[in-house]
Parts: sequence; C-alpha cells; structure tokens
Amino acid sequence: MKDSEVAPVILEARGITKSFGGHEALRGVDLAAHRGDVVAVIGPSGSGKSTFLRCLNFLEKPSGGQVILDGEIFAAADFSGRSHQHRGRLIKLRRRVGMVFQSFNLWPHRTALGNVMEGLTQVLNMPASEAKERAQELLNKVGLASHAGHYPAQLSGGQQQRVAIARTLATEPEVLLFDEPTSALDPELVGEVLSVIQALAREGRTMLVVTHEIGFARDVATKVVFMADGAVQERGSPEDVLRQSQSPTLRAFLSRFR
Ligand code: ADP
Ligand code: MG
Repeated sequence: MKDSEVAPVILEARGITKSFGGHEALRGVDLAAHRGDVVAVIGPSGSGKSTFLRCLNFLEKPSGGQVILDGEIFAAADFSGRSHQHRGRLIKLRRRVGMVFQSFNLWPHRTALGNVMEGLTQVLNMPASEAKERAQELLNKVGLASHAGHYPAQLSGGQQQRVAIARTLATEPEVLLFDEPTSALDPELVGEVLSVIQALAREGRTMLVVTHEIGFARDVATKVVFMADGAVQERGSPEDVLRQSQSPTLRAFLSRFR
C-alpha cells in the first residue's frame, strides 16, 4: 500500500474500561488498527496490556466501551446477559479475532497436527481429511512440516508456540492478537517465533502484539502504543514513541531495555 492511501480501520476499541472488584485495570482505552497494521503494545507489568487484548475479543468482558470489528459494534453494555444469541456472536468474534498466548495452551495429548486440526474440525466443522491437509499446510507455513506427529512435550517452547500460531491461523482470523508470545521462551528460541510473526506481518495481516521485544517493535510494528496504569500514555510510529518521545514514564520504561 502506498503512503498516500490509508487502509480501512478493521478493529477499533472505544473507551474500553475494565474493573476487577474495585480495581480499575483499564481506564478508557481507545485504539484503531487499520488493515495491515502491526500494533506493538508495550508497557510495564500490571499496566493492563493483557486485559486490553482479552477485552478486544471479549475473552474478558469489558466493563464499558465498544469494540468495533469491520463495522460491527460489540458494546459491553449489550453483553451483560447470557443469552444464546450473545454466545453465538462472541464465538464468531473470537474466531475473527484470534489470540496467541504466552503459555501456548496446546492440548498435551494431541500431536502438533491434532492441535492445529482442532479448530478446523470443531469450529468450522471441516471433514477430518480436509482439516488434516489444511493443518499440514499451516505447519509448513510455520516451518514445522516434519513435526506434525510430535506431541507438545516432544517440542521445544519455540516449536510449541509456532504450533499455537498455526492453530490460531487455522480458522482464518482477520485480526491476530499476540500476548507476549516470546516471554515464556528461552532466549535462543525467541528469534524463530518472531520470524514467524514477522512473516505474517509481511503478508499484510493485521496484528496487535504485546511484547517486551523493543527491537521487534521498532523493526516490524507500524504503530507503537505505550500503556501505563490502565491507559494509553503514548502512541504513534515506532520512531515517535521509541525514539522521540519525551515522556518521563516512557523513557524510564525504555531505559530498562538498553
Ligand atoms: P499486564 O498484562 O500489562 O501485565 P494485566 O492486564 O494482566 O497487566 O493486569 C492489569 C491489572 O488488572 C493488574 O493490576 C492485575 O492484577 C489486574 N487483573 C488482571 N486480571 C485480573 C483478574 N482476572 N482478576 C483480578 N484482577 C486482575
Ligand atoms: Mg500481561
């Protein structure tokens, strides 16, 4: 896409709040991701990054505000009950906004292939033979073609996370959310997972990545968002946020990575 063209907004958060008991974890977060954006979300522990990501696909129900996915409004106020209709809408939302977790969350008793097939057979009701073929393609994509028959315990953390990414891709989400995808990994395994995420970015996928990998944010992100204390403190291009910002909170946070 040329600089002069602006891709449409695919995912938007408006005034997202979230309280746990009396604690306000999110104090009104706004964010707009355009198609193809890679938004790096940085910030200290406890600033609300995970809660925000989880609110975007209603894994955590926001206390207030709206999530707008490709024009479809999901307002916190509309999801107070437990109606069947709500559940159906949320299942669809979570399929369209896929999540990759820090801790992989693979089924231990299923092979890599089985883990990737699951969403295809269970969520999309794809016949097993077709699902198997598709899952194998996805494992190829994350560089694990030859590990299809391995169980999670037989894979390194980096390989497990790549299987988890393939599993999330299986249902073809329009937006991918990554919550510290490399934080549970030994340092030597971080690169292989970041490479896969970078390759997805090159395909033009829209992604939000909570990360402490500042180099990744600088090199791959189109936007950087700095959260502190349940709110967005700074936002802009990687250059603006990571280099030019004069915010003392942000400078203090970034100084820990040098
Ligand atoms: P981050 O991901 O930036 O480290 P979190 O979103 O995990 O931050 O947490 C933000 C705040 O919300 C923290 O104070 C945390 O203790 C609190 N919090 C998160 N999840 C829950 C929960 N399920 N119950 C109670 N408090 C929570
Ligand atoms: Mg977190």
